[in-house]
Amino acid sequence: MTDCLFCKIVNGDIPTELIYEDDDVVAFNDIGPQAPHHFLCIPKRHISTTNDLEAGDAETIGKLTLAASKIAKERGIADDGYRMVVNCNNHGGQTVFHIHMHVLAGRQMTWPPG
Ligand code: AMP
Ligand code: ZN
Repeated sequence: MTDCLFCKIVNGDIPTELIYEDDDVVAFNDIGPQAPHHFLCIPKRHISTTNDLEAGDAETIGKLTLAASKIAKERGIADDGYRMVVNCNNHGGQTVFHIHMHVLAGRQMTWPPG
């Protein structure tokens, strides 16, 4: 999608330091961190929201979780723990309409979330 912020990161139009990349997924630090560690794992292929997922996307979506877990271990935050968040549409608080998994860590998370 030419007009999508995260597609522009994937294709290099918006230079962004990637902290992880494989055939299907990239990850990068969130520009507005909400915790000492806050990074985003996104599929390279444009999918707007979790409402748009199809059966064939299962592997790609699984790979987001695997990437998040791998990065967390590399950063040494896995044992203390972290929070994975995927926002969907208005009530979910989604602002960028290219699926992304937030990973937040480095402080105590609270429940319920805001
Ligand atoms: P959401 O509100 O769940 O759609 O999350 C979108 C996230 O993208 C927010 O946490 C933003 O801070 C983050 N974000 C927006 N633009 C960029 C960018 N250029 N690089 C990294 N993160 C970004
Ligand atoms: Zn996109």
